[in-house]
Amino acid sequence: MATGNINVTAENIFPIIKKFLYSDHEIFLRELISNATDATLKLKHLSTLGEIKGDIGNPIIEIKVDKDKKEIRIIDQGVGMTGEEVEKYINQVAFSGAEEFVEKYKDKVEDSGIIGHFGLGFYSSFMVAEKVEIFSKSFAEGSKAVRWECDGSPKYTLEESDRTERGTEIVLHIDDDSLEFLEESKINELLNKYNKFMPIPIKFGTKEEALPLPEGAADDAKPETITVDNIVNNPNPAWTKNPTELSDEDYKVFYREMYPMQFEEPLFNIHLNVDYPFNLTGILYFPKLSRNIDQSKDKIQLYQNQVFVTDNVEGIVPDFLQMLRGVIDSPDIPLNVSRSYLQADGAVKKISSYITRKVADKLISLFKNDRKAFEEKWDDIKIIIEYGMLSEDKFFEKSDKFALYPTVDKEYFTLEELIEEIKPAQTDKDNKVVILYASDVKSQHSYIDAAKEKGYQVLLLDSPIVSHLIQKLEGSKENIQFVRVDSDHVDNLIKKDEQQLSKLSDEEKETLKPIIEEAIPKETYTVQLEAMDSNANPFMITQPEFMRRMKEMQATGGGGMMGMGNFPEMYNLVVNTNNELVGEILNTKTKKKQERLIQQAFDLAKLSQGLLHGEELTKFIKRSFQMVK
Ligand code: ADP
Ligand code: MG
Repeated sequence: MATGNINVTAENIFPIIKKFLYSDHEIFLRELISNATDATLKLKHLSTLGEIKGDIGNPIIEIKVDKDKKEIRIIDQGVGMTGEEVEKYINQVAFSGAEEFVEKYKDKVEDSGIIGHFGLGFYSSFMVAEKVEIFSKSFAEGSKAVRWECDGSPKYTLEESDRTERGTEIVLHIDDDSLEFLEESKINELLNKYNKFMPIPIKFGTKEEALPLPEGAADDAKPETITVDNIVNNPNPAWTKNPTELSDEDYKVFYREMYPMQFEEPLFNIHLNVDYPFNLTGILYFPKLSRNIDQSKDKIQLYQNQVFVTDNVEGIVPDFLQMLRGVIDSPDIPLNVSRSYLQADGAVKKISSYITRKVADKLISLFKNDRKAFEEKWDDIKIIIEYGMLSEDKFFEKSDKFALYPTVDKEYFTLEELIEEIKPAQTDKDNKVVILYASDVKSQHSYIDAAKEKGYQVLLLDSPIVSHLIQKLEGSKENIQFVRVDSDHVDNLIKKDEQQLSKLSDEEKETLKPIIEEAIPKETYTVQLEAMDSNANPFMITQPEFMRRMKEMQATGGGGMMGMGNFPEMYNLVVNTNNELVGEILNTKTKKKQERLIQQAFDLAKLSQGLLHGEELTKFIKRSFQMVK
């Protein structure tokens, strides 16, 4: 038997480790299973190289919990270690790794985020164990089995052992403040969280499995059961396979495997697969987003060689794709670094732009291959796409090929098609193509109707970030302008050269304007006299495009709107000087009657915009009843 001192400068690094990673204690199991997996993969590799004689069988990893003895065992059938290797890899490498890790990050606890996910390896076992034993026998012919023991101080014991099987068994003597890890349910939870897709089968206990009934068995015959290993993981998850091996159904099955609580099927998936200039595989799903379910639980999961790392992919996956689901697996993402470092990392930037490109390419091919199906999905995916167009320039550039602009009648155009379609009728006197849109079919019904009557196309753009998007489109495409249908009278939406003749003279107009202004709240409503078709309503309320858009952009954030103060609610009251009623208002001699007419017409205009509420509405109804008496 040999005892020795582990060569560390810090007298005792374990208290630091324990404190440092307080909330992340549970990662010990993942770390130990990762080591067992590495050792098993190494064995398989050596076997394929012919360096191991004989059959290695189908090695598995086993987890055993003994609550009474307060022990957790992690057993593998991998390459094992000789005494010398334990000295080297456990006493020196693992220790110095842990020490270095603590040195580097002890000041950065607040910035951790992703820190603590990786980097501690074997020594994370001391976060939950007061004593750790290793029993190991190397695959190398003639090597002797060893037992190593350490209680967390720099002192260790190393001696021969009578173990006969190849591989390593780690025995954790669980600390009294970590007894929760002796619960079967806790271990199951951890296995499910971190090890669900690891490449070597992991056994945790046994389970009963029903045998198929023999042919011709009676209907009520009970099938025989046998006891089998309870394998907790799927060692060959879909993302590790070649896309050509997978059917649509396989992708759906994998989606359910990842998100068992999701009942909606995903809309479509994107298989990622790249090995230069970085390694990355994965499958991303466009989910059907529903408003009432908490979206934040089922997120994209990040793996490293099939080991779960985190479901916080901020910085790695571009913001606009955070709403997607699925997995990315890359050994090239540096994990034991802070978020800010991660975002500045060159490889990570490349990964992020690769993902953006793949998503754009997928959207292009979906659009090309089955436009109808794509149009049907548009409503579910538009938010993500529009957000992407706003936030990623590369994505914006490609979006011309798949971004859709639906009309209120559910006809879908690309921007290019739309411009082609509306150009003849909707070009204004300055040669700009004016794209009309509505944000709500119900409340803007009369304006939509009026525009359609004129032969105009009206889009339905109803996502919350539309004002930002059209601002960006106007800024990057030549000669287009977006105007909401209710921002002016239909004759003014697209300004042409032709002028309607006014029934009122300039003088009469000058008399009329102050009369109306006096009867309505001036701070909110600007009176605008227009000579329009005599059949058009006498009064109508519009909200000028610019002010409304700025207000919306401010409300949804960004766009350099900070510090500009609040935009007030501003409307125009458009008065049709060619309408008979307006003539009557002008010519009414009794002041009282004149005021009443204005009030009534004004209220009707407000009513049609949904702006008449409360006391004003009550008064209006009373007045209306009196008028029909
Ligand atoms: P890392 O896995 O990053 O190398 P660890 O601290 O997890 O760091 O492990 C240190 C080393 O100990 C490993 O590289 C490996 O050589 C050895 N080791 C740990 N666990 C096992 C095991 N189950 N079988 C064989 N070797 C192991
Ligand atoms: Mg390790």
